Amino acid sequence: MTAPLRVLVTGAAGQIGYSIVIRIADGTVFGKEQPVELVLLDVPQCTAILEGVVFELQDCALPTLYSVVAVTDEKSAFTGVDYAFLVGAMPRREGMERKDLLAANVKIFKSQGKALAEYAKPTTKVIVVGNPANTNAFIAAKYAAGKIPAKNFSAMTRLDHNRALAQLALKTGTTIGDVKNVIIWGNHSSTQFPDVTHATVKKNGSESDAYSAVGDNDFLQGAFIATVQKRGGVIIEKRKLSSAMSAAKAACDHIHDWHFGTKAGEFVSMAVPSDGSYGIPQGLVFSFPVTIDAASREWKIVQGLNFDDFAKGKIAATTKELEEERDDALKACDD
Ligand code: NDP
Repeated sequence: MTAPLRVLVTGAAGQIGYSIVIRIADGTVFGKEQPVELVLLDVPQCTAILEGVVFELQDCALPTLYSVVAVTDEKSAFTGVDYAFLVGAMPRREGMERKDLLAANVKIFKSQGKALAEYAKPTTKVIVVGNPANTNAFIAAKYAAGKIPAKNFSAMTRLDHNRALAQLALKTGTTIGDVKNVIIWGNHSSTQFPDVTHATVKKNGSESDAYSAVGDNDFLQGAFIATVQKRGGVIIEKRKLSSAMSAAKAACDHIHDWHFGTKAGEFVSMAVPSDGSYGIPQGLVFSFPVTIDAASREWKIVQGLNFDDFAKGKIAATTKELEEERDDALKACDD
């Protein structure tokens, strides 16, 4: 039998957790031939809920689910993990300032970074979903340094990427398979820059760039960007609950592509520690277009893309926000 992969989901008693675990357990993420040891972590107050999730997973009778355990301590959670989905994070409570939220999350991700360093495999790969995701990933990587390389830490912007693909397909009357190479630059926040400058659309057998396919620059630089940026809020307004199903699916897409590689000629958006590409400060966890090599499972930032002044302005704004978040987070680490 293929050795099982040990996969951790934190915040597993939550909304996204409930949608994510089935995809990991049923082979959607790592393949139908790959057994998975699933570890579910949440806070002790959620023990009964976690137990319910474990029971449901057992009842799914999944051939790929080698084992599933629920835990509430970091040592049991992080020991020997190959992949970690860090979903659990402090939610924003009424009256809470952005800084209070950041400080609360810095504490969680500092502790989890240390736990990763101490207990996880040095090859472990991490996706942070819990917000503020980019900065939480930055903090976790900082405290795992020396044991786990920073390049193994990432934050999720794949949901924004998927939203951009879907909006482009809807606008051009095509389907998802016809649209590729949209980019989300920067932070998973309202300053993100959904960019279609390098995207292509296949229609009636021929491929063209997104600007020609849409034929409406005002839309692409206005309503399109706003729709992608504000989609999460609109879903909360309509569903009275956040977009957990699509967030879980996107996190699974992110790890699936990290594990299996991206398709030839295609790139995806991932927030990863900057190597200085495109002038983004080194180490900032910033969403870039990346390709992933299936054999090495290493991502590479797509190079050589050009920016017009509009794009430069958008990228500067999201970089500034991330630098401020990083500085506040570093201050909170010392407090
Ligand atoms: P969700 O499962 O809905 O969300 C979890 C995190 O994902 C939040 O930080 C949320 O950010 C973020 N997120 C990112 N993208 C999206 C998206 N598109 N839609 C919704 N959320 C998104 O939260 P729940 O409150 O249902 O569950 C969180 C769980 O985490 C709880 O069970 C809690 O006990 C647990 N937790 C665990 C910790 C741990 O294991 N140490 C620490 C803290 C909490 P946002 O808040 O901006 O919506």
